Formats: sequence, structure tokens, C-alpha cells
Amino acid sequence: MKKKKIALIAHDNKKQEIVEWACHNKQALSGYVLCGTGHTAKLVEEATGLPVQAYLSGPLGGDQQIGAKVAEGEIDAVVFFWDPLQMQPHDPDVKALLRIAVVYDIPIATNKATADCLIK
Ligand code: PGA
Repeated sequence: MKKKKIALIAHDNKKQEIVEWACHNKQALSGYVLCGTGHTAKLVEEATGLPVQAYLSGPLGGDQQIGAKVAEGEIDAVVFFWDPLQMQPHDPDVKALLRIAVVYDIPIATNKATADCLIK
């Protein structure tokens, strides 16, 4: 059976959190194909040793690339630790990704508590 694919994205102030979350859940994550926005993918790959396919960095279009893959049915879930306390230059892309995840009814965890539920 084809492995399900999870996309990982974290804004700068949330990168530490997603790296810790990924390390804590390394065993479970190893059962999935992983991808993510540029810097997030690199950090998670380095910290866990798991392969993480990197799209462009978020502000350069990575969120949109992941949104397109969701629309094409190639991404099954998203863990997206967005920063609620800081404006992002790519805010429209962030909103678009949240929207497209709802349109295609895929799980999208936007904080650690929900990501914990998702990975269980
Ligand atoms: P990054 O992008 O992983 O390349 O930093 C994340 C984002 O800001 O959406």
C-alpha cells in the first residue's frame, strides 16, 4: 500500500517547536512520506534523520506548492505551525493553504495539541 504523505510547515518562531515535535514523533513519522517548505524540511530532516522532500521556502511560494499538491490529492495531511503573533509577508498564501485543506477535507493540524492527535 502506498505510504501516506504529510507536509510539515512552521513559521520562524515555531520552527523549534516543530523540530521538537518531529523528534518526539520520529517513530510514527517514519511510516509516512514527508515533505515540507524549504527551511522547515531541512531542519526536520537534520534533526530526525528522516528524509523530508523540500519545496520552496514558504514566503517564496512553498505554501502554494503544497496547496497545489493537496488539490491534486498527493498530500494526505498537513502539520502547519503558523505564528499567531507575527505578521507574515505571505499571509495570503497561508490563508489559501488553510482554505484548500478545508476544501479537500484533509487533516491540518495548526498547533501541537492537534498534531499530537493527528499522529496518534
Ligand atoms: P520555511 O517556510 O519552512 O521555508 O521557513 C515556512 C513558512 O514561512 O511558511
